[in-house]
Amino acid sequence: MTTSDYIRDARVAVIGAGAVGSVLAYRLAQAGATVTVIDRATPGSGTSGRTFAWLNGMDKPPRPYHRMSVMGIRDHEDLADELAGDWVHVTGSLHWTDRRDTARTAALEESVRQLRGWGMRVDRATPDQVRRDLEPDLVLEQDQVSAVYLVPRSGWLEPSRLVAGALGAAREQYGATVVRGDVAALPVAGGMVERVVLADGQVIEADLVVNAAGPDGGRVAVLAGTSLPVERTPGLLLVSEPVPARLRRVAYGPGIHLRPDGGGRVMVQWEPLDSLAVEGAPLAADDAQVRDAMDRAAGVLPALAGAAVESVRLGVRAVPRDGYPLAGFDAGVGNLYHVVTHSGITLAARLALLITEELTGGEVAELAPFAPGRPGSAFPGGSGSAE
Ligand SMILES: Cc1cc2nc3c(=O)[nH]c(=O)nc-3n(C[C@H](O)[C@H](O)[C@H](O)COP(=O)(O)OP(=O)(O)OC[C@H]3O[C@@H](n4cnc5c(N)ncnc54)[C@H](O)[C@@H]3O)c2cc1C
Repeated sequence: MTTSDYIRDARVAVIGAGAVGSVLAYRLAQAGATVTVIDRATPGSGTSGRTFAWLNGMDKPPRPYHRMSVMGIRDHEDLADELAGDWVHVTGSLHWTDRRDTARTAALEESVRQLRGWGMRVDRATPDQVRRDLEPDLVLEQDQVSAVYLVPRSGWLEPSRLVAGALGAAREQYGATVVRGDVAALPVAGGMVERVVLADGQVIEADLVVNAAGPDGGRVAVLAGTSLPVERTPGLLLVSEPVPARLRRVAYGPGIHLRPDGGGRVMVQWEPLDSLAVEGAPLAADDAQVRDAMDRAAGVLPALAGAAVESVRLGVRAVPRDGYPLAGFDAGVGNLYHVVTHSGITLAARLALLITEELTGGEVAELAPFAPGRPGSAFPGGSGSAE
């Protein structure tokens, strides 16, 4: 039997209906598998519902990882086109620093040099040009900021709508099933997961089990008596009430990152807030640190001045120990496939295509470095943990 026949006849249980699991479920169902997606919560409500969702290939060395990220943006556009979805916004990202911060300015210059060296277009603009031609409501003081760079092939995505689109199509076009339930046991016999057992006692029979549980990927691995080197790293994001601001692109300023979040809302990421992120204890919207972050954001986008914070989102990143994705069969459990990664929004559509290719056609060179059993780093000397 060829691998392709195996997938066509296989019952596949995908644990986790975030961006990664949902898009992979769609592709596997499309390839002919009988797919059951299991999530203990509302699909898309895990990290994928609490993410900055910047689509980008910035600061992602070495080149193969950068390329996977950039291809991921193209694959998202293709997927949205395939599903008649409009959740992908490749509107570009703007980058600048405080010119007095020589270390950050040098780091930005180096990132730009690297991107250009890898064949990506990066435009340089003055603050005046930004205001006149790109983002009229952003305020960048000419005498305070470094050069501004525009990366046109980047953008942002609406994860909940992606998840809904992928799961909806998987169900309606290819007969996939979405089950609400907490995977509580993965009994293993003879080096294979025998079945998926949910906390309510329900049993799901599966020939192949996919661990797409995001930051809980390590816990799911333990259920099968194995392990994954994944750290949980919390982060905080603020979403404003709707404000009258013209903002189309991701704005990546010094420590402060902004993007549109639909309906006139603006998502704000203030880097120092991450140090206050504690799982299970999100800050209140009126917390002094939250107000401080909003004031800083208003310094760049004045329409945010005095705006209420509609939600404070605490998200937990799944960061593999070397920062790079974990994608491949478990080293010890033959029918357990892990796909756990940071930057999972950028990578979801690419990983889904590559993994489906691997499961239907055999080895895929682009995936090879990311095998979970790798002894050290996917790319020795590198670190892939950039957002
Ligand atoms: C603050 C922050 C900013 C980020 N910024 C970016 C960015 O700009 N760009 C980018 O590309 N990425 C970014 N990321 C990372 C990105 O959001 C994640 O990599 C991505 O959302 C992971 O998707 P996922 O589907 O793997 O996981 P999730 O969305 O977490 O989905 C996993 C699902 O598994 C379910 N699950 C877990 N355990 C079980 C179980 N035992 N039984 C049943 N269900 C289970 C959960 O309920 C969940 O729904 C950011 C993350 C954070 C926190």
